[in-house]
Amino acid sequence: MSRVVVITGGSKGIGRATALKFLEERPDLVLVYYDQTEEEINGTLSMIRERGHEAEAYKRDVSSYREVESLFSEILKAHGRIDVLVNNAGITRDRLLVRMSEEDWDRLLEVNLKSVFNCSYFAVKAMMKERSGVIVNVSSVVGQIGNVGQCNYAASKAGIMGFTKSLAREVAPRGIRVNAVAPGFIDTEMTQALPEKVKEMFISSIPMGRMGRPEEVAEVIYWLCGEGSSYLTGQVIHVNGGLYM
Ligand code: NAD
Repeated sequence: MSRVVVITGGSKGIGRATALKFLEERPDLVLVYYDQTEEEINGTLSMIRERGHEAEAYKRDVSSYREVESLFSEILKAHGRIDVLVNNAGITRDRLLVRMSEEDWDRLLEVNLKSVFNCSYFAVKAMMKERSGVIVNVSSVVGQIGNVGQCNYAASKAGIMGFTKSLAREVAPRGIRVNAVAPGFIDTEMTQALPEKVKEMFISSIPMGRMGRPEEVAEVIYWLCGEGSSYLTGQVIHVNGGLYM
């Protein structure tokens, strides 16, 4: 039986690479995205079709409890269960703290952290009925070591680490595993927006001397969702070329 796999922010970057990796097992794939044009999401769906698969794509704001509630009820109506949730959707709103608006703080925390609560809440309820399931949350190295201009982002990503460990303890007896990946500096649209000088500065501090590829994070997410990691829960796996050890 195909697994029902839900990936938030699944339409580009790390989320898209994860979706493509999952195709190996022919899942029932559900992608959630928000800030993209029809053209962009159709591009992702074409990539999936070119590989001989189909996926459903829902344009939903995962920071909204109500939107997530109705999304999960649609998914459950269509598929009957959820086997895998990858909480990957995320944004940046970089500013020094003294220039950060209340809106920069609130919106970022809602999209990056409240979304993880929203989606996990409805997924776990469904997974508990099956007494199985896997959740992988996408944190960041910045949640561990901090970064100038990213107080809001670092707080959200450190929050994800604490959330992961707490939920892992709560649901382990129900056969559900919850882990996180903490990527370092990965080549996606999120980082392509940075000025060249800032990129060079980051790269010079990475022992492996290069940015990571989305596929390199996807490999670890996929492994965390599979039997190969069956005795792992509550862990944060760093995928960062040695940037933080
Ligand atoms: P990206 O900008 O390429 O993709 C972000 C995805 O999130 C898109 O699919 C977008 O539609 C979705 N999204 C944004 N807001 C949303 C909302 N409100 N509701 C639903 N979906 C929403 O980003 P990426 O670089 O692939 O990052 C993916 C995750 O990895 C993020 O959580 C990010 O913080 C994290 N991360 C990225 C890096 C990096 O260097 N790129 C490093 C560490 C962690």
